Amino acid sequence: MMIFKGDKLLVLERPEVDRSAVPPELLERIISSSFDLPEVWQDMPPWSEVDDVCDEFEWVDLRGAWQRWGDEVFARAGTAYQYMNWLRSVRFCSRCASPLSPRTEDKGLDCTGCGKVFYAPLQPAVIVAVEREGKLLLAHNSRMPNKRYSILAGFVEPGESLEQTIEREIKEEADIEVEDVRYFGSQSWPFPCSLMLGFTARWKSGSLRPDGVELSDAGWFSPDEFPDIPPSVSISRKLIDDFVRRHHPGGYRE
Ligand SMILES: [Zn+2]
Repeated sequence: MMIFKGDKLLVLERPEVDRSAVPPELLERIISSSFDLPEVWQDMPPWSEVDDVCDEFEWVDLRGAWQRWGDEVFARAGTAYQYMNWLRSVRFCSRCASPLSPRTEDKGLDCTGCGKVFYAPLQPAVIVAVEREGKLLLAHNSRMPNKRYSILAGFVEPGESLEQTIEREIKEEADIEVEDVRYFGSQSWPFPCSLMLGFTARWKSGSLRPDGVELSDAGWFSPDEFPDIPPSVSISRKLIDDFVRRHHPGGYRE
């Protein structure tokens, strides 16, 4: 199992261990565990959560887990984290305030009062690599750390198709239109419960103008002039790498 404290994972020799390899003083501090859930829940990566006072051990967040152990562990830890984080934040029915109880037929929660069923939230978002004449649109989001630039992304809103989200987000944030939108791939993104749907697209019309709210700066970049871009854990980086592979066989300036 994996041991979490808040949004951090305990660093052991391996990220997932059986009970005998967990320090005993941590076993005493477990406040919730996937093992306490019904059988149907047991296909998820097992986890336990400890309370907040184990500072003598080393902990890493999910990005740190990827750096240390790679894609597969990041994916398993992200799955466990999403269920754990949901279960600890949804204890009572939002309609009648009765306690919720894990279902035995699927990974949902039943309201013990009115019978309403709850499922783990999943927030779809699009992320789009827009190119124009061999250059890639990169923008600095006001919420991003330091000087990092990335491709455009936005959450899907109720009633929208993915194509409509792409059109709206790119128009709102950068004031341009795109065409030739193609699906690239997807990635579960557990911060805290997103599903990132990646696309490529080509500039069609409009002159780039960042909205000044979400995006403080944006521009068209070729790989030899790229600013600081996201690490390779993210689908944004995979889309950027794909652009470089297709247009600039020489790769990045490095
Ligand atoms: Zn209820």
